[in-house]
Amino acid sequence: MTRRPAWLAAAPPATARKRPAVTVTVPGGLGLASERARASMVDALRRLGVRDAGVLDAMAQVPRHAFIDAALASRAYEDVALPIGHGQTISRPSTVARMIETVVAHLPAARRADAQVLEVGTGCGYQAAVLARVFGQVVSIERVRALHEQARGNLRALRLPNLRLVFGDGHAGVSQAAPYDAIVVAAAADAIPDALLEQMKTGARLIAPIGTTRQALHLVERVERDRWQLTVLDAVRFVPLRAGTS
Ligand code: SAH
Repeated sequence: MTRRPAWLAAAPPATARKRPAVTVTVPGGLGLASERARASMVDALRRLGVRDAGVLDAMAQVPRHAFIDAALASRAYEDVALPIGHGQTISRPSTVARMIETVVAHLPAARRADAQVLEVGTGCGYQAAVLARVFGQVVSIERVRALHEQARGNLRALRLPNLRLVFGDGHAGVSQAAPYDAIVVAAAADAIPDALLEQMKTGARLIAPIGTTRQALHLVERVERDRWQLTVLDAVRFVPLRAGTS
């Protein structure tokens, strides 16, 4: 058993760095308009400082409106979190971009096609779809069965054979597909679960929102077999990482 570094339990306070709000509205309905709205969303992401071409391409391709309720679809390309039922939300596009860009930064384009990635918190499946367009193999775990099924339905039409959805509690990670080159946690915990730290390859990166009332994105790099390094990034707001399944 590898030692758990003390700093992972007591993370330093968030360095709040507020990002400017960007609004992109869908010009009259969806379809072709959704492609234009997506292109505007990607431009907005660029203006916010997202640079990674692979991440921007993936976000230009995945139809975010197909992951949310039809009543909210006209807001799909605004930079906002939206409800997806069961008290959960789809993360805002800038957060999805920021998280993926951060965990992919250490992998040159040639290595991404072989990279094994875990997402904790599938929700509606949007971020999983983006991850599957950036990385070779993606596993995404969700603890709410209804959302797991909803994501399966949302993702069917996209035909992403390199994406596997798992139902269960992500605190334990998904050992069958471990170790991972990158792990993205989409719900906030007090501390990063041990199992996730153990399921990182040496050299891998993990990003997770940590905290309760105040949260910040934490980037962890497994720099050696027994050494993890932490960097605290932006202040964020995520739904909580809960134990067990429902
Ligand atoms: N990835 C989503 C965001 C989903 S919101 C997106 O594309 O926008 C976070 C999700 O994490 C919720 O669906 C919630 O049910 C799930 N979640 C919370 N705790 C979890 C746990 N322990 N294991 C797996 N999923 C969990």
